[in-house]
Amino acid sequence: MSTTKTRYDVVILGAGHNGLVAAAYLGRAGLSVLLLEKNDYIGGATTSQQVFPDYEARLSRYSYLVSLFPEKIIRDLGLNLELRRRATGSFTPYVREGRHDGLLLSNVSDEESRRSMVELTGNETEHMQMKRFYDLARTFAEHSWDSMLEPLLSKDEFKRRYQNDDLSREAWRSLAEEPLGVVIERYLQNDLVRGLVLTDAKIGIFTHPHDPSLVQNRCFLYHLIGNKTGEWKVPVGGMGAVARELEQAARQSGAELLTRVNLAGLDLSGKTKTVQFEVDGKPSAVEARFLLVNFGRNVLGKYTGHSYQPDSSDEGSVFKINMLLRKLPKLKAAKYSPAEAWCGTFHSDEGYEQMNRSYDHASKGRLPEKTPCEVYCHTLTDDSILAPELRSQGFHTMTLFGIDTPWSLFSRDNQTMRKEAEKKFLESMNQWLEEPLEECLAVARDGSLCIESKSPVDIEDALGMYHGNIFQDAPSWPFAARRDQAGTWGVETEFENVFLCGSSAQRGGAVSGIPGHNAAMKVGSVLGR
Ligand SMILES: Cc1cc2nc3c(=O)[nH]c(=O)nc-3n(C[C@H](O)[C@H](O)[C@H](O)COP(=O)(O)OP(=O)(O)OC[C@H]3O[C@@H](n4cnc5c(N)ncnc54)[C@H](O)[C@@H]3O)c2cc1C
Repeated sequence: MSTTKTRYDVVILGAGHNGLVAAAYLGRAGLSVLLLEKNDYIGGATTSQQVFPDYEARLSRYSYLVSLFPEKIIRDLGLNLELRRRATGSFTPYVREGRHDGLLLSNVSDEESRRSMVELTGNETEHMQMKRFYDLARTFAEHSWDSMLEPLLSKDEFKRRYQNDDLSREAWRSLAEEPLGVVIERYLQNDLVRGLVLTDAKIGIFTHPHDPSLVQNRCFLYHLIGNKTGEWKVPVGGMGAVARELEQAARQSGAELLTRVNLAGLDLSGKTKTVQFEVDGKPSAVEARFLLVNFGRNVLGKYTGHSYQPDSSDEGSVFKINMLLRKLPKLKAAKYSPAEAWCGTFHSDEGYEQMNRSYDHASKGRLPEKTPCEVYCHTLTDDSILAPELRSQGFHTMTLFGIDTPWSLFSRDNQTMRKEAEKKFLESMNQWLEEPLEECLAVARDGSLCIESKSPVDIEDALGMYHGNIFQDAPSWPFAARRDQAGTWGVETEFENVFLCGSSAQRGGAVSGIPGHNAAMKVGSVLGR
């Protein structure tokens, strides 16, 4: 495979879903576009793969749920995406007086959630307080979501949107100015409920409720503002279906894609940018008027000699386990069916105080005694990712997302620490199960169990994400970070006509297509369109 031209209007470095969004918009605008991807597959962190070769099951290998992908991009690009609601929002098992029970928050029945909360807390107050707390998030979303596809507002302008009524003022103060722990502790009393809320602030990053950097607030907002509802939905066909649709949109718009590309050098000094690369050892070079960068600032820094300067909030903290199961494990909390519990986000060891302890352990350089994690089963909402014979035999896929496992724990001896962490996460899950997860796993022909684990080191190796940060670096605010950024698209770099089109951009991060869209708009504005 080679390129059809030596000069393009736009070259995009990396073919993650954001690069594909940018390519589709720019191709449709009549520009010639080339994407260069290091891996042998398209989609970056939005890939589905047959992880266990003996079984035809296409797992969402990295990202798995969608909330932040704007309906506008779906409409603009004519994407055929089905994002399906899960019947259960979350299930959190607990033990009281020696008996196993669980807090089930339904996506379809408020009454069921209310009843379950009352069983846990003994009265109606916590349920009411949780609703009031989430009203703050909903209010924040209403004032901010539509701006994600527009040039950035300054912080002052953004704040003004929240000054018209008490609820909005409180939403701003609680979510954008004070550490999230303050509002959680003000509204909620139950440790399990506090923890449940806090997890959205810790997914993928290493932080705690009172972190003065407020990175936990930014992470929390990303989890709550998507399409103004913050609901996380299942991409039918797996996350790879999102990438496939986008790839098709990009190709149909005329974009060319090249995989297995080894980038050799970038010359960004002149008006025309030059990209040197090799495919299968064969050297090539192309020129472009615009360069869009889909990988993170850390990777860009390696090619430009302008070293990337992260701070501690950019560190990734994730442990992902992908599993194929022969059967769903039964719960000790027998009053819930496995299907009810596993189709939502299943929280384990995510109490508020327990996560303060796990953060503390990991800060001191050791794996937490109890490892907080959340698990969910894609195939209970969408079984199309399994071959028909696996479906009929009762197979399921399961994904575990572990937190408080920063990159620094794995950087010295990834292999050993990966094994240890996997063991701990399985132990965490097994405390709630009648039958250990290991006994429910499918077995490959060679006798190995169908389980794979990815540490932050593995994630950086596979995708280039800085220290395994799932957002490429610390999630950003939905408004300008600096005064001089107001009015820009938040994609600019120090190089003329070189723009970030991935998660590293302001308002990048997660499966959203937002920075891809915004980089395309930036190119349009330079061209006066
Ligand atoms: C384990 C995990 C779970 C996640 N879960 C969710 C989730 O459920 N929902 C959600 O919304 N978000 C989730 N995320 C975050 C989300 O997936 C990412 O933020 C998003 O997909 C990033 O998309 P992107 O297009 O900006 O960049 P990427 O997907 O990072 O794409 C960048 C591309 O650049 C390529 N590249 C890197 N270096 C080079 C190089 N030198 N030369 C050429 N190409 C290169 C990479 O291979 C990659 O294809 C998760 C991420 C991870 C890792």
